[in-house]
Amino acid sequence: MPENQMYLKMKALLRNVVPDVELRYKAGLAEQINVLKAEKNAVILGHNYMEPALYHSIPDFVGDSLYLARMAAKTEKDIIVFCGVKFMAETAKILNPTKTVLLPAAKAGCSLAESITAEDVRNLRKRFPGVPVVTYVNTYADVKAESDVCCTSGNAVAVVESLKSDTIIFLPDEYLAGNIARETGKHIIFPTLGAKGLEFDTSLDYQMVGWRGRCEVHEKFTVADIRSVREQFPDVVILSHPECSPEVVAASDFSGSTTAMIRYVEQSNAPHFLLLTECAMGDNIIAANPEKPMLRLCSVRCPHMNQITLEDTLKSLQLNQYVIEVPEPVRLRALKAVERMIAIS
Ligand code: SF4
Repeated sequence: MPENQMYLKMKALLRNVVPDVELRYKAGLAEQINVLKAEKNAVILGHNYMEPALYHSIPDFVGDSLYLARMAAKTEKDIIVFCGVKFMAETAKILNPTKTVLLPAAKAGCSLAESITAEDVRNLRKRFPGVPVVTYVNTYADVKAESDVCCTSGNAVAVVESLKSDTIIFLPDEYLAGNIARETGKHIIFPTLGAKGLEFDTSLDYQMVGWRGRCEVHEKFTVADIRSVREQFPDVVILSHPECSPEVVAASDFSGSTTAMIRYVEQSNAPHFLLLTECAMGDNIIAANPEKPMLRLCSVRCPHMNQITLEDTLKSLQLNQYVIEVPEPVRLRALKAVERMIAIS
């Protein structure tokens, strides 16, 4: 697509979201990326949290981590460029070992993925022998390799229910686990730090064992935020991601994965919507649905997702960086957990 055409395409969607001076600059970058993408036989996957100019210009597929994992599994291109964070790019590599998987920014991590190690999972298995381990997809490959099955926020309930087990270990997101426990009617216990290290009070009635990882974005939303917004906009419909605390989810009108939130907004006619998730998603919804009155709390941003820029994506294709590798023995074990997750979608 000639540069001017890219600019016009982006302007049609983004004229009320991105100022013209920035649109012209970013359309130039997007055009260069798309030329290189074709030359190198690459596919670009873009998470729903990408900034609007990137989200609406270069990805071949956009969506949540479950959808993007499915697209990564299906692609026949030689290179997968993942505009998301490292655990997502690793999942693409787990599913597609013969492809080159590139992550445009080396530091695009995740507080949830950092919260647990493979050794932590092995210790939990020793503490709770025979109890199946469900791991949120927001973890690194070596943690997935220690798990029975992965899940995303979109299919976590289905995964938990599919196991038909009296007790499960659900890692590492404390809040997602709490929300799943509430939805499935299970009781959950979490570790506390005692004299001998991490301790679990197994004298309680419990069917789930959790961990204390949190998303550094979603943990910041509070019930006080919700009350304040409802006071100012009494007719607002509030949507929260299940990585928010159970109290925030309970005080919201709807909770679901990023894809479920987008669908909800598209299919509803509220006078105002407030999304409790990474702010860029609100911009992306407005771009595609300019008539939707969206409120956002943009002081809460994901520093990892925001590492991914058009400039770095161009460099990624030019310099073949940053290549994601997963050691083969780890990949083979992680693959089983990821494939099970995809099958339960
Ligand atoms: S939004 Fe939260 S869960 Fe998603 S990448 Fe950022 S820190 Fe991780």
